[in-house]
Amino acid sequence: MQVSPSIEIRRRWEAVWEQVRQHAARAGRNLADIRIVAVSKGHPPDIVEAAFHAGIRCFGENYAQELRAKADYLRQRGYEVEWHFIGHVQTNKIKLIAPVAALIHGVDALHTAEALNRWGERHGRMLSILLQVNTSGEASKHGCAPEALFALAEAVLRLPFLRLEGLMTIPAPAAAERVRAEFRLLRHLRDELRRQYGSSPLDFPHLSMGMSADYGIAIEEGATLLRIGTALFGERPPKQAHHVHSHQEQNP
Ligand SMILES: *Cc1c(COP(=O)(O)O)cnc(C)c1O
Repeated sequence: MQVSPSIEIRRRWEAVWEQVRQHAARAGRNLADIRIVAVSKGHPPDIVEAAFHAGIRCFGENYAQELRAKADYLRQRGYEVEWHFIGHVQTNKIKLIAPVAALIHGVDALHTAEALNRWGERHGRMLSILLQVNTSGEASKHGCAPEALFALAEAVLRLPFLRLEGLMTIPAPAAAERVRAEFRLLRHLRDELRRQYGSSPLDFPHLSMGMSADYGIAIEEGATLLRIGTALFGERPPKQAHHVHSHQEQNP
């Protein structure tokens, strides 16, 4: 007998949370400080609907059009969910992203931040963002260099329609200990940011790090937002050809 997608997703959701609980307990962390962003990219809107019925309320997408299509699909059916944009932000896509994203994870350049700020000003809305840091040192990856982060953050903090909520990284595929070092670096950078620019220990609360393969390590290193796709939804269906070229690096 075929199991409904909703039941299968709920089973996976509970299994992932059980892992999260164990890692959090081992690291002495409060479970309330950890959220899962269910990465639904590559899956059709009805899978998100099934995930909603499995109890999931926060979803991540990395293509602007796909985000909008799914956000519209769920809104039209009366489902209230929170969307996060986890891809690289292109300025010409801001009009699609900004109206629906509760948090934009992948900001890595001042011109992007300025464009988001202009959108916020025009629409009278604050936008919450994370700055993406290239913790691996690989040239092909998005994210600002660790050395450039503080100047970027200082400039971003002057933009009145942006709320800087923390940092995000996508580590290079590597052995666990290298991944751990990248997560540790991100946390260190956030702590330093707090020291230099924060007015309270609650400033820049978020560390968006950890995916299906490494979220346990991320929890141990302080992650507050886990971006988990495959462990919840299974393997993604093959991408359409036009995505493969322009966004390859966004689909590790
Ligand atoms: C696809 C993606 C994820 C989820 O990856 P999984 O390995 O499927 O959990 C997380 N973050 C970003 C930025 C992604 O593009």
